[in-house]
Amino acid sequence: MTKQTIITLPGDGIGPEVTTVAVDVLKAACRAFDVEIETIERPFGGTGYDTDGEPVTQETLELCKKHKFVLLGAVGGPKWDDLSADLRPEAALLKLRRELGVYANLRPIQVYPALAGASTLKEDVIAGTDILIMRELTGGIYFGEPRFTTEHKGEIWSVDTMKYSRSEIQRIARKAFEAARFRDKRVCSVDKANVLESSRLWRKSVEEVAEEFPDVELSHMLVDNCAMQLIRNPKQFDVMVTGNLFGDILSDEAAMLTGSIGMLPSASLGDGNGLYEPVHGSAPDIAGQGVANPLAAVASVALMCRYSLKMEEAAAMIESAIRSVLDDGYRTPDLFADEEGTFRSGTTEISVRLLELVKEKAVV
Ligand code: NAD
Repeated sequence: MTKQTIITLPGDGIGPEVTTVAVDVLKAACRAFDVEIETIERPFGGTGYDTDGEPVTQETLELCKKHKFVLLGAVGGPKWDDLSADLRPEAALLKLRRELGVYANLRPIQVYPALAGASTLKEDVIAGTDILIMRELTGGIYFGEPRFTTEHKGEIWSVDTMKYSRSEIQRIARKAFEAARFRDKRVCSVDKANVLESSRLWRKSVEEVAEEFPDVELSHMLVDNCAMQLIRNPKQFDVMVTGNLFGDILSDEAAMLTGSIGMLPSASLGDGNGLYEPVHGSAPDIAGQGVANPLAAVASVALMCRYSLKMEEAAAMIESAIRSVLDDGYRTPDLFADEEGTFRSGTTEISVRLLELVKEKAVV
């Protein structure tokens, strides 16, 4: 049995409830492939502030950098809303992302057959949708300099700068092509090359990387068309790679295809480091009630298996358990619509069933 250490940062609100389930499932799935998962847990966010007087300590950041693979729950809540910006729970998140140097944000958008009716779009449009959106996370217009507001000739002006270097584009493009090799081997690069200079460099740089991956098909799409195509025919996409601004908007649009925020996992990757977290927040309105949907956190550890632990079979096992638990009719209140064959369940019930399913799949 080999040993692998990961850091867990449960955080606030429902964070601890959903990460507990995710860690149990991760351990069970990895054990089936002779890998023992050891966890080191640290307070983080509001809980970190309550424990250590700051949302994240330098020691925790060093531990995360040392062990490289991190599972995060969620941070934030009304209790900490009045703290100064540097002490607020969200400051810990930004610090952690920066320290780990994670520049690629991966959001799988998967419509589970059992939940196809939960979307606002028609079932036949979204059933079978399985997209991986890869968003550049540390560059582009959100970070470009100069940025300022000034007064000139009696008018007020504001400037933001959309800026990308060839190497910044190529490192995320490489991640997209690598991910496509686990999937349908198609990458769609999204830009605005008909108008923006930075998009023209984006397109050229992605094409250069494509030459290293002759087994993966590359296409390009303008961002305005992409926004339409996601609603018109989402099934056409496999891996989508795009810059920070376009990725921010398109990933939220695509998220709505799945019907519930409690289903969406994410991974943020740097060179060797991986931060895994559900997309949802700390949901203070339902914290402590035992009704949080743990499936986004569980799907996040499947991504950890795939992209960091390099255990594709364990990833597939976890994802198959998620599909089965939904097929069996289990629904936390956020998913429950009183459909035939479904029943309202709590976090623990789902957790117990997931563990049974993983164990069954391990035996088969
Ligand atoms: P939220 O995602 O926490 O909740 C939005 C709604 O979705 C709520 O009604 C909540 O009950 C529900 N919900 C979310 N996750 C769920 C789950 N797993 N199961 C069932 N229902 C779920 O967003 P919010 O209410 O805007 O923010 C609450 C707090 O979370 C704020 O302090 C915010 O800053 C923080 N936040 C943190 C992160 C993060 O840690 N990455 C992300 C978003 C928001």
